[in-house]
Amino acid sequence: MPSDETRALISAERAEELSEAIDACARCGYCKTGCPTHPFGGGFEAASPRAKVHFLKEQREGAAEITPEWVDRIFQCSSCERCVEVCQTDIPLVEVWEEARAALVRLGLGPMPAHKKMREFVEARNNPYNEPTEQRARWMQPHHQPTPRAEVLVFAGCTASYRMPAMIQTGVTILQRQGIPFVYAGAEEVCCASPFLRTGQTAVADRLMGSNVDLVERLGVKRIVTACAGCSKTLKKDYPGWARARGRPWGVEVVHFAELYARLIQEGRIGFTRSVQKKVTYHDPCHLGRSQRIFDEPRAILRAIPGIELVEMENHREESRCCGAGGGVKAGYPAMAAQIARDRVREAIDTGAEVLVTMCPFCQTSFGQAIQDMGAPIRLAGVDELLLEAAG
Ligand code: SF4
Ligand code: SF4
Repeated sequence: MPSDETRALISAERAEELSEAIDACARCGYCKTGCPTHPFGGGFEAASPRAKVHFLKEQREGAAEITPEWVDRIFQCSSCERCVEVCQTDIPLVEVWEEARAALVRLGLGPMPAHKKMREFVEARNNPYNEPTEQRARWMQPHHQPTPRAEVLVFAGCTASYRMPAMIQTGVTILQRQGIPFVYAGAEEVCCASPFLRTGQTAVADRLMGSNVDLVERLGVKRIVTACAGCSKTLKKDYPGWARARGRPWGVEVVHFAELYARLIQEGRIGFTRSVQKKVTYHDPCHLGRSQRIFDEPRAILRAIPGIELVEMENHREESRCCGAGGGVKAGYPAMAAQIARDRVREAIDTGAEVLVTMCPFCQTSFGQAIQDMGAPIRLAGVDELLLEAAG
């Protein structure tokens, strides 16, 4: 038992499940090998996921103090799930980190100043970028025509709405060409809550999730489709438990556009009229790949496009490296995030590919900046962009 339960970083509610999980740590250190943030700890073991697990056990027993260094280490994690993938005792490490961060926020010891700023922005304008709420639909093009009622809800998400609109624009164009009616909520859609769940800011996450659950209930939709890896992970994996715990309905199917395109191609509903003669390499977004096991669909789309040559990076699929942006790292530790993105761009260049493709607007913002900073000889594109080009 913890010496002081009110300060325990694994809360009493989750103690049974998560405390037992961390007790199973075999101290093998597998989790250190692919962790993108560990190398930024000066080579010290203390910055490794293994050491963080050990710290949480000691802290629970009252044998370790929460110092500012430990607070920083707990937040210096991109939630990439690489450690979860390799942990030999199946510890849900990202859930453990999120639990610890939420406890640090409750204790007033976190989050990082930039994370607090995001919270202020989302409280005022329902997005973490401080963009005007009433302009949430500005990504829409004149030919995009939502209907008042439909089974499908397009969830654009904050990054696609305000920063990287291409993926959602392409997705909606393809929906229309396929004759799939959809509703879109514009300014009534609010942030999916991912940045706040990952940084332990659960009170504001509750408010956002409640608002989106209300929206889905009001619209009576059966399916949500989104272009963002983070939104789809959150809507698929965090919303069901949240709704269940509060007795709220949440019976919708959540679909990432990668899944939809792959299905449409398989059913022969997307035909190609042009060849795209390009050598490309695909980056698996952590929250699409490891989180949702969507590895095959983007590759199936690329292989179906005439003329595309797909080459893999050294680290791909389950072993893919992070873009550096997730878990609040881009906001809280921008230099670290930028270096991680540059390292991944170098890996892409090493394949000899002309184009680095991905299926997440958030990864795209990181790589776009990295490519620009490096003057790198590689172009960035969405898988959907190549799909639309080949479909004419
Ligand atoms: S989730 Fe990723 S960044 Fe965080 S500890 Fe695990 S491997 Fe490291
Ligand atoms: S991989 Fe899992 S069992 Fe091994 S040290 Fe890391 S957390 Fe512990």
